[in-house]
Amino acid sequence: RFSQNRFYLREIDIKKHHKYFHRFSHKGDFGKVLLIGGALGKTGAINLAGHAALRTGSGLVLLAPQIPDPYKFRPIVPELMVFGEKGGFCFEEFDSVAIGPGMGLDVNFSWFRGLLDQVNLPIVLDADGINLLSKFPELIDQLPVNSILTPHFKEFERLVGKSSDHLERIQRATDFATKYNIILILKGAHTLIAMPDGRQIFNSSGNQYMATAGSGDVLTGMIASFLGQKYSPENAAICGVFHHGMAGEIASQSKYRGMIASDIINAIPETFVQLE
Ligand code: AMP
Ligand code: MG
Repeated sequence: RFSQNRFYLREIDIKKHHKYFHRFSHKGDFGKVLLIGGALGKTGAINLAGHAALRTGSGLVLLAPQIPDPYKFRPIVPELMVFGEKGGFCFEEFDSVAIGPGMGLDVNFSWFRGLLDQVNLPIVLDADGINLLSKFPELIDQLPVNSILTPHFKEFERLVGKSSDHLERIQRATDFATKYNIILILKGAHTLIAMPDGRQIFNSSGNQYMATAGSGDVLTGMIASFLGQKYSPENAAICGVFHHGMAGEIASQSKYRGMIASDIINAIPETFVQLE
């Protein structure tokens, strides 16, 4: 089955999307990122996403853990800040927002609807953020245009039902992206980026050692970081997915199956060095 709409992402496709910041840049130019998730027992997910966003170049990253007393929460790296203000988020303050890593499903419908209502820029939705859409499908329509969803196969299946094979799954991802005007990243080996205009872009970077806890949270932080640096949603998705896989390849060279998600994060800067 041939398609004019099918592409394979290579190293040379990435560099041309990179943004460069001038000598007099200040941290505001590199974007302020908000990451919402991390219920009790799962705060590692936003820690990883936040650390990954910093290593991808964000100027400021705030974590909003969904725990009773957020200010008791200590991020894994001191450069991360905590958002714990009561009374909701002031989304205008942020250049990008990601929702879902470790968030849990014990979330009030109106709270979640309120989040999607208030936010008026494309968001990254991952993990339990996606599972909540499966739980409340009437909210899929509320997603800001060009938002980026990053389900793995299981999360995607919860969202749209079982597929009989991978070709059918790819078609469903494409249909979902065009129907709702969002970017759907179907994660796995050779991750598919399904664009709202029907294009299917397959990733070439990454390897099996990336199948480890927290690997997807790292991707979420990287995409949110690119969005916050004012990459278009399309370019943020493309650069996030490719750099993530490349960081996994670099880290696994010395770790093999002992690689953990934090190793992927620590290899992110090297991906920029190698692509320059
Ligand atoms: P998650 O399941 O949310 O932790 O996401 C796993 C991440 O690791 C995704 O970005 C996948 O694309 C990546 N990944 C998992 N398995 C492989 C594989 N065999 N080859 C390349 N990337 C993989
Ligand atoms: Mg995940």
